Amino acid sequence: MIEIIFSLITLPYAPNALEPVISQETVEFHHGKHLQTYVDNLNKLVAGTEFESMPLEQIVAQSQGAIFNNAGQILNHNLYFLQFKPVTHNPSPVTPNPSPLLDAINRDFGSFEAFKAEFEQKGISLFGSGWVWLSANKDGKLVITQEPNAGNPVTKGLKPLLTMDVWEHAYYIDYRNRRAAHLQALWQIINWDEINRRYTD
Ligand code: MN
Repeated sequence: MIEIIFSLITLPYAPNALEPVISQETVEFHHGKHLQTYVDNLNKLVAGTEFESMPLEQIVAQSQGAIFNNAGQILNHNLYFLQFKPVTHNPSPVTPNPSPLLDAINRDFGSFEAFKAEFEQKGISLFGSGWVWLSANKDGKLVITQEPNAGNPVTKGLKPLLTMDVWEHAYYIDYRNRRAAHLQALWQIINWDEINRRYTD
């Protein structure tokens, strides 16, 4: 029997709430199968080690190999799934409301549209599996980075704010090979209040 140290996060929305941007089938496989497997693997790997009592961010910053890969994927997916809000029939504007985060986006990228274009381009051009991230450095300056595989910006001393998963399992059921179309659609379900909360936290 596996000791439960880390748990699968509960989604703050119904599995069909992100349709048509992300289908219920994708949410059920991505959260219920892929993320559950990372959780089960990490619980087996850390039992009896120095990592079993550490927060995920610290494990990701300090581990390597299989523990890093599984802990990184749990941290990445927790940030990913908790940044979305349901699609509504009267969708709120894709542009975030005025906030310290929006001020920083305008300051560091020139405009929200320029930020989105750079973020999408870095997601599209990431070769293979990985993640594109918006993060803040210790001075609050925003940066967009690509991380391969299970990578997370905490390993570079950055605070992760927003991410898009470019592993094929994130989009292949709904978009097949059309990664760019998937990334462009995700803007419709970003919960900017949550991203601003992470930025100002
Ligand atoms: Mn994923």
